[in-house]
Amino acid sequence: MIALSLVFGVMAVIPIGGADMPVVISLLNSYSGLAACAAGFAVNNNILIVAGALVGASGIILTQIMCKAMNRSLANVLFSGFGSGKVETTKVEGEIKPISVEDAFYVLEAATTVAIIPGYGMAVAQAQHVVKELAVLLEKNGAEVSFGIHPVAGRMPGHMNVLLAEADVPYDQLLEMDEINPRMEQVDVAIVIGANDVVNPAARENEGSPIYGMPVINVDQARTVFVLKRSMASGFAGIENPLFYKDNTRMLFGDAKESIAGLVREFA
Ligand code: NDP
Repeated sequence: MIALSLVFGVMAVIPIGGADMPVVISLLNSYSGLAACAAGFAVNNNILIVAGALVGASGIILTQIMCKAMNRSLANVLFSGFGSGKVETTKVEGEIKPISVEDAFYVLEAATTVAIIPGYGMAVAQAQHVVKELAVLLEKNGAEVSFGIHPVAGRMPGHMNVLLAEADVPYDQLLEMDEINPRMEQVDVAIVIGANDVVNPAARENEGSPIYGMPVINVDQARTVFVLKRSMASGFAGIENPLFYKDNTRMLFGDAKESIAGLVREFA
């Protein structure tokens, strides 16, 4: 039985793409709760039954939330690669417009409403502390600063909340996707820090896109968008992002921590 379970476990998990793993871990967590619950019945232990049921239920709820935020079914996560069955159909047209730290600073200096949208790249760059410094400087400069948090930004649920809490960003500045989206048209500058899929307008506009239907933060509706990333590489979903080619988008290339530190130096 042990050998069979081992083989089954390995076979079930091997085909799952690395970044889908958090969903699977959450599901397996839930199974461990159910197993503990069943063991509780077997040995007649109420604590095991209650604790196991709690772990089982919370794990399955979390799994469900993650799948919903990615607009995918659990079966799709478990049994196929990302967006299988759908291939990207349209070629993005437009021009990439890079911007320097100095020019970005001049725009930010004049902004009265700034929205910061962090993603996986902020975690990679460990830029949360400099981001907080920038937010404080922007506020001192008279701007209203908020953070837009997508439920699956990063690689685990709550990833961005944890990083920003570590940097002491006040909780009331963190707005969920549904709260920040209606305000996006009033935002002077949206700063996208290492986020890609969670701000991809193709999810709204392009029916042929593998992520069509996934709820995203509508940064493209802000007056100006700065996208901080190192290259034109795609994000987790491996697809083009038309946001980078929009008229109101400027690409600030480089490591997110270095770019933000540059902006902080300009303000100081
Ligand atoms: P993405 O993976 O879409 O994009 C991250 C971007 O960060 C990349 O385009 C990369 O571009 C950039 N980046 C990486 N390192 C740096 C750096 N040092 N400095 C600056 N930029 C950097 O991230 P999102 O957060 O937008 O989306 C999360 C994705 O993960 C979604 O597709 C979601 O479905 C998926 N997912 C999330 C889970 C969760 O629970 N949160 C679980 C499973 C999957 P470049 O290389 O050019 O710098």
